[in-house]
Amino acid sequence: MHRVVVIGAGFGGLFAIKALRDAPVEITLINGTSYHLFQPLLYQVATGILSEGEIAPPIREVLKKQKNVDVRLGWAREIDASARVVKVSGPGIDYEVAYDTLIVAAGAAQSYFGNDGFADNAPGMKSIDDALELRARIFGAFEIADLQTDPQEIERWLTFVVVGAGPTGVEMAGQIAELAHRTLPGQYKHIDPREARIILVDALPAVLNTFGDHLSTRALRQLHLLGVEVELNTKVVDVDTTGIEVDSERGHQRIGSMTKVWAAGVAAPPLARKIAEVTGARTDRAGRLFVEKDLTVPGHPEIFVLGDMMNLNDEHGDQLPGVAQVAIQGGRYAASTIKNRLAGKPAPKPFKYFDKGSLATISRFSAVASIGRIRLDGFPAWVIWVAVHLLYLVGFKNRVTAVMHWAVSFVGRGRSERVSTIQQAFARRAIHEYGDPFERARIEAAVQKD
Ligand SMILES: Cc1cc2nc3c(=O)[nH]c(=O)nc-3n(C[C@H](O)[C@H](O)[C@H](O)COP(=O)(O)OP(=O)(O)OC[C@H]3O[C@@H](n4cnc5c(N)ncnc54)[C@H](O)[C@@H]3O)c2cc1C
Repeated sequence: MHRVVVIGAGFGGLFAIKALRDAPVEITLINGTSYHLFQPLLYQVATGILSEGEIAPPIREVLKKQKNVDVRLGWAREIDASARVVKVSGPGIDYEVAYDTLIVAAGAAQSYFGNDGFADNAPGMKSIDDALELRARIFGAFEIADLQTDPQEIERWLTFVVVGAGPTGVEMAGQIAELAHRTLPGQYKHIDPREARIILVDALPAVLNTFGDHLSTRALRQLHLLGVEVELNTKVVDVDTTGIEVDSERGHQRIGSMTKVWAAGVAAPPLARKIAEVTGARTDRAGRLFVEKDLTVPGHPEIFVLGDMMNLNDEHGDQLPGVAQVAIQGGRYAASTIKNRLAGKPAPKPFKYFDKGSLATISRFSAVASIGRIRLDGFPAWVIWVAVHLLYLVGFKNRVTAVMHWAVSFVGRGRSERVSTIQQAFARRAIHEYGDPFERARIEAAVQKD
């Protein structure tokens, strides 16, 4: 049986596997977590609307009816392209998996543009850990502000800075504003949550830059109505525990803020560099691998690279964006190429991305949508946003409970998921000191054996 190894159970990996359901192949899926993560709704976990389980169904459950897949937990660290083997670190155990065809869809990591030290004080939005930590920081900031007596301290705790005015930053800023203005007022004796400042910062001159002038202006207006302060053409130059430093036309400025969110910049995961080293493939500045028009690595027709990890231009010479549809369509394309090869049929035509449009929400009942030539904003765009997200959210149970939680937050004023633990708030630092838990467990296991 032909062995297909898939690295990554995100959109690209999962859709490739599903498209290989009836193919005469044995699939091994390697993923660093036991769940598939629906990243577009991470901001709702961070702001207490959804639970983490609703956007992260267990991979084994998602694939339980597909008998040709073996799901294995672990981080693919490197590949041996000549022996056709993937080297993996599981928790406390290393293993190797051999392949005939390899599909790499390991997504993207957060980029701090060379300032990785910012992460401690401004968590990104890439993982469940990030979202739960941010939830603890955001709700915790209101709690701690309520205990302060110094007005300057109160202001620092009630100032939230979101860096990056793309869809994630806009969504985060909008939801923190709704928390401060709709959910929390009346629940504190010593502070008024409505006095919170929510500041959205971006080095570019527009919010939602990729949506075009019309929708960008509408989104900016909506943010202002929500009370979000938008600082454009403003570059972040430093982040520390108590604030953030920015440069703009107005010069250098320090914003006192205990809660910062980083929603800017992506970089390919370290595995991309390893693949480049062993295959000779080129990478771009963000570390993404340049692939051929059939999504394979040059000189390696047996290795596909998909989704956020790849760099490929469309027919107009524009680089394909890092969005779910590029990964989904890439996954299906790789699967059909593999099926054609096994059936002795000619290869499909080069990969062509079909752009189904872009969506971003700003607050309840308000979104922007760019679909072909159609530009929508406000409530109609929000209805489309709800429908699309329900369609792609994995699992019937999750769709039902997500709708209930949306009703709590958007029709009512509540948040269903306000619980945070001490571990969620502080574990980032502990993990830094302890080291990568997978790596550490491996080292300890090796020492014990000796
Ligand atoms: C906060 C946020 C909001 C977003 N909002 C939208 C949106 O509204 N619309 C939209 O279209 N797109 C959105 N995106 C982008 C979209 O989520 C990605 O484009 C898409 O997930 C890419 O799919 P992928 O398969 O390439 O990678 P991913 O979905 O990121 O999956 C990668 C998988 O690989 C695993 N992995 C990584 N490295 C390894 C390794 N070495 N070994 C084993 N496993 C590994 C990860 O655990 C993960 O499961 C958003 C992204 C983020 C972060």
